[in-house]
Amino acid sequence: MKVTEHIEQAQGKTLFSFEIIPPKKGSSIQELYDNIDPLMEFNPPFIDVTTSREEYIYIEREGLLEKKITRMRPGTLGICAAIAHKYNVDTVPHVLCGGFTKEETEYLMVDCHYLGLDNVMALRGDAMKEQQYFEPTKGGHNYAVGLVEQLRDMNCGQYLNDRVESKNCADFCIGVAGYPEKHLEAPSIKNDLRRLKEKIDAGAHYVVTQMFFDNQKYFEFVEMARAEGINVPIIPGIKPLAVERHLQLLPQVFNLDLPQALIEAVEGCKNNKEVREVGIEFCIQQSKELMEFGVPVLHYYSMGKSDNIKAIASALF
Ligand code: FAD
Repeated sequence: MKVTEHIEQAQGKTLFSFEIIPPKKGSSIQELYDNIDPLMEFNPPFIDVTTSREEYIYIEREGLLEKKITRMRPGTLGICAAIAHKYNVDTVPHVLCGGFTKEETEYLMVDCHYLGLDNVMALRGDAMKEQQYFEPTKGGHNYAVGLVEQLRDMNCGQYLNDRVESKNCADFCIGVAGYPEKHLEAPSIKNDLRRLKEKIDAGAHYVVTQMFFDNQKYFEFVEMARAEGINVPIIPGIKPLAVERHLQLLPQVFNLDLPQALIEAVEGCKNNKEVREVGIEFCIQQSKELMEFGVPVLHYYSMGKSDNIKAIASALF
């Protein structure tokens, strides 16, 4: 079922969902199940599975270093299919512009269609670790809007080089990313919102936000988005702060501000066990306020660990 259909069916009740990251290459999928199992009692209607950018590694050969490209966490589509099958839940693969040609994307989406996946999150992807800025892949899309257009065309039976007239063509529900505190590269929030509107106009059906810790930023973002003519569901993506290092890391990587009260609470902790507790309590209060606001879904970034998400969900759902 589509994410938007789940939202409609809930009739104003806030749903619980979460995002997982594929395990490192060579790991067992059981690790993933062990982290998903404790969260299934909260009835997530859908689970997102991220896709990681490829990266360069250097292999020593005859005294020389050979530069090779690899993907450390492959398997997004396989994991989506495995989870959907095991838990009877909808899964949302993240599909990137970066690292994929348009043809590769087309074949990936054909597989999604055959696997019965109804939803897809269309993203540009970040720059590779070695790059300062995002560099489009040769034969791929420059921005997420291009990917949304490709998916929309597939929904109409229009493939890259063929038109297929069929009653069984794909009908993907397309999600895109939104940034309550502005995307890192955007010259202004207003400009970023216009870009978001372009993605909706191109055929996206819902938005999931980047994580934020100050609900006011989300409320203002929703207001500005509505004023811009963006009328699709805007799902808040949130994450409990979990270790002291997050005080530096999260603002740096995700271009966000942390509330002073949270910073001071973390600084007052003796160890990371206490920080984790502070993060959980903060996230429960943040989630409660978002629920009161009437958000359609609370979407948690689990980062592969479920104990804190379970503690939060237990207090709310
Ligand atoms: P876009 O919408 O293409 O925007 C990127 C930037 O370009 C913005 O600054 C925008 O304002 C600007 N822009 C857009 N269109 C144009 C245009 N036509 N001309 C000029 N400027 C333009 N990353 C991963 O690698 N894997 C994941 O699984 C993943 N999942 C994510 C899930 C969510 C909910 C979110 C919020 C982010 C996720 N990301 C993921 C990170 C995401 O890939 C990065 O934030 C990336 O830098 C931007 O992606 P986007 O889809 O928002 O890009």
